[in-house]
Amino acid sequence: MQLMKKFFLSIDQGTTSTRTVLYDAKFKYIDQEQIEIKQFYPKPGYVEHDADEIWNKTYKTFNKLLKKHDLKPSQIVSIGITNQRETILGWDSKTGKPLGKAIVWQDRRTSDFCDSLKKRGLESEINEKTGLLLDPYFSASKLKWLKNKSKEQFLKKTTLFGTIDSFLLWKLTEGRVYATDITNAARTSLLNLTTLAWDQDLIRIFGLQGIKLPEIKNNADNFGTTKLFGGEIKISGMAGDQQAALFGQACFETGQVKSTYGTGCFLILNTGAQILRSKNKLLTTVGYKLDNETTFALEGSIFVAGSLIQWLRDKMQFISSAPESEKLAKLGNSDSEVSIIPSFTGLGAPYWKPDLKAAIHGLSLETSREDILLASFEAIAFQTRDLLEALKNDGAEIKSIKIDGGMANNNFFGQILSDVLSINIFKPSNIESTSLGAAYLAGIGSAHVKLSELADIWKADKIFKSKKSYETKYIRYLERLNSLT
Ligand code: ADP
Repeated sequence: MQLMKKFFLSIDQGTTSTRTVLYDAKFKYIDQEQIEIKQFYPKPGYVEHDADEIWNKTYKTFNKLLKKHDLKPSQIVSIGITNQRETILGWDSKTGKPLGKAIVWQDRRTSDFCDSLKKRGLESEINEKTGLLLDPYFSASKLKWLKNKSKEQFLKKTTLFGTIDSFLLWKLTEGRVYATDITNAARTSLLNLTTLAWDQDLIRIFGLQGIKLPEIKNNADNFGTTKLFGGEIKISGMAGDQQAALFGQACFETGQVKSTYGTGCFLILNTGAQILRSKNKLLTTVGYKLDNETTFALEGSIFVAGSLIQWLRDKMQFISSAPESEKLAKLGNSDSEVSIIPSFTGLGAPYWKPDLKAAIHGLSLETSREDILLASFEAIAFQTRDLLEALKNDGAEIKSIKIDGGMANNNFFGQILSDVLSINIFKPSNIESTSLGAAYLAGIGSAHVKLSELADIWKADKIFKSKKSYETKYIRYLERLNSLT
């Protein structure tokens, strides 16, 4: 009898889309199914998702991929889950129904509440315990908003809260498992980085007494099984999208860095077993935890990267597709004085200005659509440079960066990035690092592979080397940014 081939399936629930990705037993990419998800902007500063839609589309992409490749559940070694972090929702464990829309990480509705905690002098305690800053970005203030909306519903016995990972896991296991993983938990502002457990003081500070929170598991762990696809399939890997990308980029050594350019840009430095506190407003977070060993990380989060390209496509209608941006930006005048501060949803690291609005400077009657596109890529690269400067000031020496995410498809952007940062930029052969990382974790969690075997699988597809200086333009961008903040 011929042995049946084995596979891994990664569920990658991102901000703009939900996908399921198929990998073979050697983690070679086979295929994926992807569906866009709807963004709701009910008020300025509000960003919401429909968690029912997220679940239905997750199920659909998963099922479609199984059917398309005629796969039986017994052929799937295990499932890995990765997801947009910080986005939070409540749901009813009796009906399985979400309680209203999920509040997305980009949502700024709790900026006044965060300010009030700052005024009470609580930021340093929160930072000390969580490694995070006090900003609407993280889940805790969003949970407080849900509590204020309906205390009764918040405290109801059947109400559960969680990030998207825990909701999807709960759905996949038909309510049998209510759990999250350590990297998602680390982004809520409720996890104590030292004890690696939910912290009662933090729960009190954010006014969340009485909340039900999921069990915290390691990234490669037993997350239960799903029986929804005609047989049992194990779930044994889980991580927030940026940590999954760190893992998928095989950044297993202290000092290695990855930067993901999806909706936002998230740069993560592996700091090993050390909890490194940033003096420059970067975040200290969990990179991954395997068995009893925790790898910590420093992270710089930029809220707007690919979403700037999306805005140029959907609202400005300068381009009809994201890939078209490459062709047009190349035609931009490199002497143009246009600079863009893309703080559509406030500025993240290292500035943390939740209310700053976006701006375009230096327009003249000569300015063309192409110039704006070029300035957009430069703006994203300049923001990355801000992160690199912060890391440098924290004592880290960065020699190269591995990039991934949707924008890594754009080779013109890869070159600008290398020029602006004056370092080598490596693009892997599989830029789907996030789903690959989840598959790797599922591989470790199902005892299919060891960490030491994974580093050899990573291959660079392209290396961008710095060709020209961007100092004058970067300084101009900084001056304009400083005049706004
Ligand atoms: P997420 O996981 O955050 O949903 P993805 O990694 O799928 O995001 O990347 C999608 C983003 O990448 C979109 O915002 C899109 O505008 C941008 N993008 C995709 N392809 C390109 C390209 N060729 N050039 C520039 N931007 C791109």
